[in-house]
Amino acid sequence: MDAAEKKDLSTAILERKRAPNRLLVDNGEGEVAPDNSTVTLSTSAMEQLGIYVGDLVLLRGKRRRETVCYALPDESCPEGRVRVARGVRGNLRARLGDVVSVTRRLDVPNGTRVQVTPFEDSIDGISGDLFEAYLKPYFFNYQRPLCKGDCFLVRGNMRAVEFKVTAVEPADVVVVAADTVVFCDADAPVKREDEERLDGPGYDDVGGVRKQLAQIRELVELPLRHPKLFQTLGVKPPKGILLYGPPGTGKTLLARAIASESGANFVMVNGPEIMSKMAGESEENLRKVFEHAERSAPSIIFMDEIDAIAPNRDKTHGEVERRVVSQLLTLMDGLRPRAQVVVIGATNRPNSLDPALRRFDRFDRELDIGVPDEVGRLEILRIHSKDMPLADDVDLERIGKDTHGFVGADLAALCSEAAFQLIREKMDVIDVEDTIDVDVLNSLRVCNDHLKHAMEV
Ligand code: ADP
Repeated sequence: MDAAEKKDLSTAILERKRAPNRLLVDNGEGEVAPDNSTVTLSTSAMEQLGIYVGDLVLLRGKRRRETVCYALPDESCPEGRVRVARGVRGNLRARLGDVVSVTRRLDVPNGTRVQVTPFEDSIDGISGDLFEAYLKPYFFNYQRPLCKGDCFLVRGNMRAVEFKVTAVEPADVVVVAADTVVFCDADAPVKREDEERLDGPGYDDVGGVRKQLAQIRELVELPLRHPKLFQTLGVKPPKGILLYGPPGTGKTLLARAIASESGANFVMVNGPEIMSKMAGESEENLRKVFEHAERSAPSIIFMDEIDAIAPNRDKTHGEVERRVVSQLLTLMDGLRPRAQVVVIGATNRPNSLDPALRRFDRFDRELDIGVPDEVGRLEILRIHSKDMPLADDVDLERIGKDTHGFVGADLAALCSEAAFQLIREKMDVIDVEDTIDVDVLNSLRVCNDHLKHAMEV
């Protein structure tokens, strides 16, 4: 290590000490879940920063993007981190692992007038009084802070609607209090700018795989976001991870969530589809995939049904398969440690893979994504019913118990079938030719009978 690098490192440490309010963004899975208006920190971080429970804090992310939230303590929040829900991360343009600064903010006035506008794509097909159905319950009794330019998602009524804060008075940051006039400009919905696009599923969309998610995040996130750190430390980040488990357990969803949460490009390869009878074409397809992933790095290459591409060469008679396996080995070996490309393979039959693929520096990490247990099923049911207003007689825990053997895809289908059943019943009040009034949506409730019916389908 030369002198310049040494100096660099020592000052980096000093800088960190000088700026204890610069924290790494973590996701919202703590004992206290942050939402659109709150973030959580460890008690010691709050003490160090002079922040009291329920204080407003200014968060500053990339490109000076700012927003304001209440700070709450959460003992499960690791030191040096702040837990931020996805919507707020979007407002800060911050991904997991990015640095944001957190400062106590005292002088936030009550708003006199706030104007919010729904996104065009989020109210497609619905009409009526959005204020009554969404905004009133959202703001009532919450004292939510709002920044001009912020976006926020309001769930419920079978349909989540996303709004943008288009104007606030008397300052750019206000608290929406009882006497604040909230004006909803639904007649002129806004179009999304590119950076406001919701890109793919988040970690909170994947249920029942808590342990696996933590493991895979540790393996993938840091190397994708900080390749230099690994190079400096002389540690080789993993190139390949194998997810195995039955179909519909969420392997693809998990890989997509990792890509979107860590800001990586998602490159999908479907095992059987890439295979071609034309001589050399399958290898060429595969080479192109790797080339594209490296060019658009950081990337995650997801190989679904990887056993179709790379079966055990001793047990297959197909010449094409043999050539494709060796091509895949060559491509994996050729990935530079700093390429910021991670290959995730999914299979239901890990033992049918060519053993050479499962050696060190190839797919050398394996995670079992099994059929979810009762707790996992409940988590998945909650995810898929989060926009559904449930009647009082619905007991999701009971359904979690009664659905032994169901995988994530089955539970997702169960929830949509229940909603479908409800809509069938309400066809008389829903005018299919027209948009649906939010009042009608607001009156819909998924009941136990709908779910029961869905379980029998
Ligand atoms: P796999 O890749 O294991 O075959 P998928 O990820 O394609 O499974 O799952 C299909 C769909 O089922 C997902 O898009 C999602 O809606 C639902 N699903 C599956 N597993 C889960 C899970 N663990 N949590 C939430 N939803 C899930």
